[in-house]
Amino acid sequence: MSEQAVRMSEVGGVEVMTLNSISLEAPGAGQVRVRQHACGLNYIDIYHRSGLYPLPLPSGLGLEAAGVVETVGEGVTHLKVGDRVAYVSAATGAYATARVLAARELVRLPDALSFEQGAAMMLKGLTVQYLLRRTQPQGGLQAGDAVLFHAAAGGVGLMACQWAKAMGLRLIGTASTEAKCALALEHGASEMILYSQQDFAQRVRELTDGRGVKVVYDSVGASTWEGSLRSLAPLGLLVSFGNASGPVPPVALGQLAAAGSVYLTRPTLFTHLNQAGAAAAMAEDLFSMVLSGSVRIPMGQRYALADVQQAHRDMEARATTGSGVLLV
Ligand code: NDP
Repeated sequence: MSEQAVRMSEVGGVEVMTLNSISLEAPGAGQVRVRQHACGLNYIDIYHRSGLYPLPLPSGLGLEAAGVVETVGEGVTHLKVGDRVAYVSAATGAYATARVLAARELVRLPDALSFEQGAAMMLKGLTVQYLLRRTQPQGGLQAGDAVLFHAAAGGVGLMACQWAKAMGLRLIGTASTEAKCALALEHGASEMILYSQQDFAQRVRELTDGRGVKVVYDSVGASTWEGSLRSLAPLGLLVSFGNASGPVPPVALGQLAAAGSVYLTRPTLFTHLNQAGAAAAMAEDLFSMVLSGSVRIPMGQRYALADVQQAHRDMEARATTGSGVLLV
């Protein structure tokens, strides 16, 4: 049976993505074939498409999806045909109607969660898990600590607002519109800063009686880097984890001294997932936060797989909130 997948043979604008017919091989040992129902949209997909994060070409796109196990390869014991599953995989190609994957990459999707929710929560939720639980400032994060989280109304952002609230943190968020600020407040942000109009570092000082925050989570990159440094308390931690506005310029170490002997890390989700035992523990924590109701999946935009170009246009235009999915 012929399947469809989004492919690109060169990097560039949205037009490089085309929906192509593909044929899938039968799953080999340790693999399963998944009939996909929803594919997650992530800002990293834009870095892949634009060439900021280079991929061998031609390539598929997309890192997460949810669906049903359709065929099981030899030696697979923990999954069977008909199981509902979700995954995040470092191998691009999730924007597709069906896929063959290593069975160990899949987690069972609880019945309480829809395919849309499964596809919308894995990459972003696991990211929030490692940012808030595994990326610790000196002395750890305690209830009441103030942190700054940029792009707080985005997919990662709205999950972070809720998770931080559940941990008792005071999350100060930033967003580019009043409507986005209101949405992040509804999801548990303590205060929001309209960073398109305000000097957010100055506002952080006002909100923290001049002290600054213990951690800044910065996925915006080029346009926020300087202000993020200025927002930290002495010995604070700057977590630079994305580049929505472009990559951070080269850093002179003296900048960290001048900001108050601050710490800097540039983590990726896959480094964390690849640590022994981490992927299962992180997924368990995420599902527990979601199933207990502490973190709701912030469903935002839904598109047909064929409308992938529009989905990318909207993300790049900052016209989205929460998590987006492509429906198959
Ligand atoms: P979002 O839904 O948060 O979309 C990105 C947001 O960035 C926009 O909505 C916008 O919010 C903000 N932004 C600021 N400046 C710009 C700009 N110049 N152009 C476009 N957007 C801008 O995306 P995701 O939830 O998918 O991901 C959030 C970030 O986290 C991304 O940068 C992503 O790469 C990163 N990430 C990193 C991971 C890691 O492990 N290192 C893992 C997962 C995500 P606003 O309009 O409010 O400014």
